[in-house]
Amino acid sequence: MLFSQLNLSAPLLKAVQDEGYTTPTPVQEKAIPPILEGRDMLAGAQTGTGKTAGFTLPILELLSQKPRNKVKPVLRVLILTPTRELAAQVQESVKAYGKYLPFKSAVIFGGVGINPQIQILRAGIDILVATPGRLLDHVSQGTIDLKHIETFVLDEADRMLDMGFVKDIRRVIALLPTKRQNLLFSATYSDDIKKLCESILKNPVIVEV
Ligand code: AMP
Repeated sequence: MLFSQLNLSAPLLKAVQDEGYTTPTPVQEKAIPPILEGRDMLAGAQTGTGKTAGFTLPILELLSQKPRNKVKPVLRVLILTPTRELAAQVQESVKAYGKYLPFKSAVIFGGVGINPQIQILRAGIDILVATPGRLLDHVSQGTIDLKHIETFVLDEADRMLDMGFVKDIRRVIALLPTKRQNLLFSATYSDDIKKLCESILKNPVIVEV
């Protein structure tokens, strides 16, 4: 299969080409079409499988299909990750794959000053990559509004649970609009993950690689 067969628009195909990718990985082949259809998803994919492009490319495609406020964009995509390293990596991917599109992204995590993050958020962003604790700090300060979220991604959900983030995740979910697309990525599938999936995902497509 070729990337050009995945119904991604020219700006995304060009960015993929710039990265030097020739063909989609198995998780990309399986995940991209149902995400483009707006389906919820549970994907059992490890790091190194190309899962980040597997969700980032279709999310950018969906964003580009709807009108956007150029002066001050509203936050429409939330990607939660367990660690700051992963958050930073995911935002790098969002920037790389979205380089020919107008969307703005930000990454926020704890352990660094909150004020520079507030400045970036104030200007308006389309896509936020965050770790749970700092995200909730911003929410309680009123510097992040989650009521326009269209797509919610939980990346490495199993590691999030291992790190004790389940309460934070549930607090975040309670702040999201009920009508939204949910994508959950997890390398393992335990009873706890199953419970989390049942409470988050609606009629999900299940992708295994
Ligand atoms: P990830 O599993 O998302 O952490 O991605 C693992 C690595 O695979 C990253 O360094 C990506 O740049 C790379 N990658 C993602 N998609 C492809 C692809 N279709 N072809 C070759 N490399 C890729």
